[in-house]
Amino acid sequence: MTNLSDTQILVIEDEPDLRSGLQHNLELEGFRVQTAADGREGLRKARDGQAALILLDLMLPGMPGLEVLRHLREIGRETPVIIISAKGQDRDKVQGLELGADDYLTKPFGLTELLARIRAVLRRTQAGAKAGVGDKPEASGVMRFPDLVVDWKRFSITRDGEEIQLSRYEAEILRMLIDHRGEVVSRQDLLRKVWGYVHLPTTRTVDNHIARLRKKLERDVENPVHVVTVHGLGYRFESTLLEGS
Ligand code: CA
Repeated sequence: MTNLSDTQILVIEDEPDLRSGLQHNLELEGFRVQTAADGREGLRKARDGQAALILLDLMLPGMPGLEVLRHLREIGRETPVIIISAKGQDRDKVQGLELGADDYLTKPFGLTELLARIRAVLRRTQAGAKAGVGDKPEASGVMRFPDLVVDWKRFSITRDGEEIQLSRYEAEILRMLIDHRGEVVSRQDLLRKVWGYVHLPTTRTVDNHIARLRKKLERDVENPVHVVTVHGLGYRFESTLLEGS
């Protein structure tokens, strides 16, 4: 892991005691901490991209936490987010995960639990940033598909010459589909291999991420040419690898 003093955490939380308590404890652990007391200020600070991770309350003045997350992902900002929410907001938590949050914690939570989650997300994210620099020889180079170029080494993807940014989950889904191109990959396989943990309740989460991935990869999302649905079974990466890849 990188030096913690380089690792900035943005805490978006309106309860003053919790906000300052989190700041204090995270600083004691060696993190740099930025705080925001409402949703708008939180979004503004999140947009500048300084934070390596965001702790996001859901019930916030100014702008609800889910809106902050939605805006952030819409502009392509993929900073990992851990939702911290009150009890009884299970539906919001699920929605948050579908919008691209990385984990969630229910208040009240202990410091040990919080730190474990933060470290796990940072570890996964840093691994995700390196996604593609893996064991498969073909995954270390550039792969060209019609109108799509995937550079695993630089981890950049261009569509019609324009660079697009993928979230970690989207990237891992794409990687898995491309590794198995021409074959059906089931939602269960994607859940197991990409998420690797069980607290995501539905395969709908996979479908939502596939929809977001398609928006970025496909010219016409209604008629996808790269990631196609195999009815009742899952998804298949359909494009042909071009010569010279
Ligand atoms: Ca709140």
